[in-house]
Amino acid sequence: MAQTVLITGGSRGIGAACVRTFAENGWNTAFTYSKSREAADRLADETGALALRADQQDTAAVELAVAEGKARFGTIDAVVCNAGIAEQKLFQNITDADWMRMLDVNLMGTVRTIRAVLPEMLHNHKGSIVTVSSMWGECGASCESHYSASKAAIIGLSKSLAQELGPSNIRVNCIAPGVIDTDMNAMHSADTMQELADQTPLGRVGAAAEVADSILYLCSDKSSFITGQVLGVTGGF
Ligand code: NAD
Repeated sequence: MAQTVLITGGSRGIGAACVRTFAENGWNTAFTYSKSREAADRLADETGALALRADQQDTAAVELAVAEGKARFGTIDAVVCNAGIAEQKLFQNITDADWMRMLDVNLMGTVRTIRAVLPEMLHNHKGSIVTVSSMWGECGASCESHYSASKAAIIGLSKSLAQELGPSNIRVNCIAPGVIDTDMNAMHSADTMQELADQTPLGRVGAAAEVADSILYLCSDKSSFITGQVLGVTGGF
């Protein structure tokens, strides 16, 4: 029987690549989006996935999206906490409001999503949760202290939940992408992107589909004895 996945922030970038990859591999696929209804509808038409509007700063909206996904497909076997924001600012220019927004979207959005799917996974005594951190969450990044801190927190959350939920047969793993060619990196100039590619042992930036393949692996039963891990998809950076 096909398994069901819920992917947050699925209308573009790594999330959209996940929607395509899971759908191509026979998964029942639901995804959330916050603003771009047109892009979400197009992707739903293209893949047969279910598009659900949910801003992950809104607990009730996240809970409703999970309920709608479950109502459509019967259960939720895996969740990909992908949605996130980034921003470049000098540390001394990052305001309290900037910090709170970054942590609320990236960390608390992940928390809200996991909390909403957990009762179903506990009931099934099975589930796979994949969070999305960043290599900057592991090694830090100049002018991205609030982003890096939010991504480091996601690693701590994931490792803690892997321990807490292991006895319930729920696996929790984290993906830490390197530099991936998506809209998130539009803030970087072409020169900066080239510099980042040059610093990458594989000599290029990554494609969203390459991250999606690793996420599919961690969600699937092919990784059934893997939990509490952070998988870098970085080209060796
Ligand atoms: P992106 O900006 O293209 O996509 C981010 C997605 O998150 C979008 O669909 C957006 O609508 C959604 N989102 C943002 N705020 C939201 C909210 N409040 N509620 C619901 N959805 C919201 O970027 P991407 O590169 O595809 O990033 C996906 C994830 O990968 C992010 O968590 C990002 O931090 C992480 N990441 C990206 C890179 C990279 O180089 N692109 C590297 C490391 C980690």
